Formats: sequence, structure tokens, C-alpha cells
Amino acid sequence: MSDTIFHKIIRREIPATIVFEDEHVIAFRDIAPQAPVHVLFVPKETIPTLNDVQPEQAAIVGRLAVAAADYAKREGFADDGYRIVMNCNAHGGQTVFQIHLHLLAGAPLGHFG
Ligand code: 5GP
Repeated sequence: MSDTIFHKIIRREIPATIVFEDEHVIAFRDIAPQAPVHVLFVPKETIPTLNDVQPEQAAIVGRLAVAAADYAKREGFADDGYRIVMNCNAHGGQTVFQIHLHLLAGAPLGHFG
């Protein structure tokens, strides 16, 4: 399952509201937002789940977090705060098997954990 809907977005085969892109990462609005701001940060390198991340790929996950924090700063809600979530496999609720980081913001999200 290496080709996903997110790969199609990266290749511009299906539309998405892209809010950030660089050599390594693309970010676009979630089609079914769970908060006023709901953006997905996706690496361009294919990695199906967090379980598949190899030690030498750790920077890829770091880049997603830094891209999300930079976006929060640019958009002006970094100080108010936000939540980042990565789902893995069935019990985590993962539905698209290309790793991605959810950025949720724009309102108090309630305590989690
Ligand atoms: P997961 O459940 O795998 O962690 O998250 C997948 C996310 O991708 C879901 O929040 C879902 O709404 C979003 N999604 C699924 N298909 C599309 C699509 O075609 N376009 C966009 N922008 N988001 C999508």
C-alpha cells in the first residue's frame, strides 16, 4: 500500500488546499476538519506507518513537527497553542497509510491524556 491519496496530492493528481511545501514536506488542509484549524503534514518520502520509520529517518518525523510549529507561528496561533497527533494502525485510527502529523488548533481542544 505504498501509493496513497496523499501521494496523489503530492503529485497534484487530486486537489488539496496546500498551505506549505518544501523539498521534504507538504502540508494541506484536512478534508474533514476536526478543529477550526486542521492541517496535515506529510513527508514526501514514502513511509506507511510510524512503525516503519528507521533510525536514519528520524529527521523526517522531526521535520513534520518543525513545519507544524513554523506554520503555527506564521498563522499567529503558536502562543495560544495547538495539538499534534500521529495515528498508527487500527487501534490508533490510521486510515491513510503514509505517515502524517495532524495539526489541530483554533479553539480550546480540551484535555487529552
Ligand atoms: P488518519 O486517520 O490516517 O490519521 O488521517 C487521515 C486524514 O486524512 C483524515 O483526517 C481524513 O479526513 C484526511 N483525508 C482523507 N482523504 C483526504 C483527501 O482526499 N484530502 C484531504 N485533504 N484529506 C483527506
